[in-house]
Amino acid sequence: MKTTDPIDVASHCARAALGLMERHKVPPTPENFSIWYAFVAGRNPELTAAINAILNSGKKFTEKVNEQLYERFAVFGQDKAELREVGLRVEEAVGRVLEYLSNAGDGTHSYGNALETFSGRLSGGPAPDYLADAVGAIMAETKAMADINRQLTSNLELSSTEIARLRNELDDLKREAATDALTQLANRKMFDHALRHAVEAAGRTGEPLGLLMIDIDHFKQFNDTYGHPLGDQILKLVGRSLTEIVQVKDTAARYGGEEFAVILPRTMLADALTVAETIRTQVAARRVTNRRTGQVLGQVTLSVGVAVLAAGEGGEALVQRADEALYLAKRDGRNRVKSELDVAAAG
Ligand code: GH3
Ligand code: MG
Ligand code: MG
Repeated sequence: MKTTDPIDVASHCARAALGLMERHKVPPTPENFSIWYAFVAGRNPELTAAINAILNSGKKFTEKVNEQLYERFAVFGQDKAELREVGLRVEEAVGRVLEYLSNAGDGTHSYGNALETFSGRLSGGPAPDYLADAVGAIMAETKAMADINRQLTSNLELSSTEIARLRNELDDLKREAATDALTQLANRKMFDHALRHAVEAAGRTGEPLGLLMIDIDHFKQFNDTYGHPLGDQILKLVGRSLTEIVQVKDTAARYGGEEFAVILPRTMLADALTVAETIRTQVAARRVTNRRTGQVLGQVTLSVGVAVLAAGEGGEALVQRADEALYLAKRDGRNRVKSELDVAAAG
């Protein structure tokens, strides 16, 4: 059999031949392909001249013209075994191209159709030795496309799972960065952020904004008596209570140590006082026991200060006024709720 072109040359010629055939509306049959491949490869000066003459004349490549070209320029006479082998290799290569194309996008449809015709008409037909180059070309093309496709697909899959993983990780980190690890409430940083946001929204809409500052009573004593780990359990218990009581629009936060804060958007003083009283009574109603020993540790009580945002006021001033109410609650005996009105009355 004739030596074939190097794979990359053959691949280039095959593509160019198919492109020209499409442009000049030459049906993509094996016979026509072998002629156009030879034309592109510049194999036969007579063939080149013949096709150029047709192209220059502006004539169409009718079925008759194509047949004549084939009869005149195709090479016959190879022995049967060689023909069959070439045919089989082309079939095999075309089969692989088709399989690849059926998995590829719509853009490659016409190429797929062309090769299907090619494949369908090959069986038993005469195979000029240009087909050997075509086989090489198509096989190389198939392999290259399949490799690229496989690589692209696996790269895409990799990068999309990687992106999803990174996004989840980022979400987790964001949540972690905003959450107090012990109580799972918003942390101080998140509280500051939420308060700024709430103050801005209240200023814009004119809706009331309530704030509770909460402090556990005699917590140092509790720690000293029962130990720090049990103290942590109390902080968790208060955190759970706050989470249960406040609404989704509210922000319950661990302000620091054994102090908590609750931002109450769209809440006026009377309603904020109700929320504060609910928190105080519910926590006080819980009987804390040492789960390990079963010992009843008694009651946890809270002192709460309540204030609502005044016109033109910022978040810091609001916190300060709620804190003043909290200290009044402590001074007055603890386990109670006091508001900015009580502070004003106390002078
Ligand atoms: P008061 O009623 O006046 O608030 O008294 P108190 O003892 O609660 O207040 P003080 O400020 O004297 O003590 C606060 C205590 O809170 C001291 C500290 O050990 C404890 N505390 C702060 N953070 C934590 C924590 O994360 N875990 C535990 N177990 N204790 C904490
Ligand atoms: Mg304190
Ligand atoms: Mg305290």
